[in-house]
Amino acid sequence: MRILLAEDERELANWLVRALHQVGFQVDWVDDGRLVRRSLLATRYDALILDLGLPGLGGHEVLEQLRTADQRLPVLILTARDSLIERVSSLHEGADDFLAKPFELAELEARLIALIRRARGSEHPRFACGPLSYDAAVKQFTLGHEPLTLTPREHAVLRALIQHSGEPLSKQEILDRVFSDDKDVNPEAIEVLVHRVRKRLASSPVQITTVRGLGYVLECPATS
Ligand code: CA
Repeated sequence: MRILLAEDERELANWLVRALHQVGFQVDWVDDGRLVRRSLLATRYDALILDLGLPGLGGHEVLEQLRTADQRLPVLILTARDSLIERVSSLHEGADDFLAKPFELAELEARLIALIRRARGSEHPRFACGPLSYDAAVKQFTLGHEPLTLTPREHAVLRALIQHSGEPLSKQEILDRVFSDDKDVNPEAIEVLVHRVRKRLASSPVQITTVRGLGYVLECPATS
């Protein structure tokens, strides 16, 4: 995981670069707010640790610039100014989390990991159901270790089911969720599609069960 650190206190920055490196982060350091944007354009980072009191361009301005540019990068604010007002205003400006100096490395590490995980989760969720998994980043199902080949409509049905695995989805709900702009698909067509997806899953313990009156449920075997 690659982190950009914007902090002008050299000693603190040096310590953070080394300490975070030891727990598995690769950290690039800038000591001036004006360098943040340029670094973000040049390199893909997983998160930004941003000091509020920065020379060149202050942390508040950096944050504003990022959010105006619609940068969805997770931002963890560091500040010596441990006041409620500071904290609330940073969160309003689009910071994802806030840590007051002095802080423990373990706390910084835990918060960074949580932020990155949250950001990744919202961008590219992964769904798993026993040996079946769906990677939203590449829009691909995998069964066992093999990619599962599906037609676009079968894919859409299985995606709706895996996103709600364990809960029943009615034909109408599947229709509304995945085929709302496709007028050729009717509830009977969903039945046919479910039948075809079942065949694709036949070699695996993953099952699509019909729950009378409620719809279809994707049942995932317990993973050992
Ligand atoms: Ca500072």
